[in-house]
Amino acid sequence: REILLEVRDLRVEYATQNGPVEAVAGVDLTLAKGEFLGVVGESGCGKSTMLFGIAQLLNPPATVSGGEVLFKGENLVAMTAKSLNALRWRDFSVVMQSAMNALNPVHSIGRQFKDAIKAHARWPESQIKARSAEVLELVGIDPVHLKSFPHQLSGGMRQRAMIAMALLFTPDLIVMDEPTSALDVVAQRSLMAQIKELQKQLGFAVIFVTHDMSLVSHFSDRLMVMYAGQVVELGGTRAVFDAPAHPYSRGLLDAFPSIRGEVKRLTGIPGAPPNLGRPPSGCRFHPRCPVAMERCSVDVPELYLVDSVQARCLLHEPAAVSVEVES
Ligand code: SF4
Ligand code: MG
Repeated sequence: REILLEVRDLRVEYATQNGPVEAVAGVDLTLAKGEFLGVVGESGCGKSTMLFGIAQLLNPPATVSGGEVLFKGENLVAMTAKSLNALRWRDFSVVMQSAMNALNPVHSIGRQFKDAIKAHARWPESQIKARSAEVLELVGIDPVHLKSFPHQLSGGMRQRAMIAMALLFTPDLIVMDEPTSALDVVAQRSLMAQIKELQKQLGFAVIFVTHDMSLVSHFSDRLMVMYAGQVVELGGTRAVFDAPAHPYSRGLLDAFPSIRGEVKRLTGIPGAPPNLGRPPSGCRFHPRCPVAMERCSVDVPELYLVDSVQARCLLHEPAAVSVEVES
């Protein structure tokens, strides 16, 4: 396993009137070449913020306040804007939640591809045309749509066009922020399958952010569950999905239609993620945790190894277990 990306203690802060709010509170992560990582959690848990922190796409008032993002050994956090721009699109690209916002409404798809290419390479016109057509075909869109404007495409086609654009230089990493969330369920599944197929074919790694755990369960190698700016569970997708070790992961799984398609009641987890300006004491999940113990509002859990996965829950704290066994 060759390491492509290594994130060390990444922290993101938002400046607010009431002082800094830490939206990402120390995330560690390694991603192998060609690996597909799903990142799940409710909105407001810091998933997108973490992704933008990795891709160096944060804008004030949000800034990376600590940590490193080593991409092929180079720390993106410390890189100049110029060096970062040289890497973007070429070595890693980003697919946003809404292509309608990411694409320029007044330019044709072809024109936008051309601009992206020209920012990074001096290719003759013929090569630009050929590559633009090629990537559109890769995502199943007739290259005739290079002439189309974003509003002339369906929502699903626009998202595909965004993915095509991300593939222009066949990067090693594509980070995706809920790229299918604006689509209906059928279009979502087909786009997911297509992303996976492209990934297998072209070998790029993916970090895929979504609030829907069942959506990524078929496609990711590993799952990362985030809560209140922290990783609360990380492990192989099958392991996390079949036997979630963290109470929050369990709640998330219950909150969504099962993978077999029947819609479960959206019971999920009552309440909402906390205000990160004043995160709960002890375990950040304790106010909502169905199995919270008295000490959970005091003691701060770390990520503990539970079989093959890591979970941030005191129920899995090794010391506590051994004391019980001895007494
Ligand atoms: Fe629940 Fe306590 Fe585990 Fe936090 S540490 S998830 S409150 S049991
Ligand atoms: Mg988000």
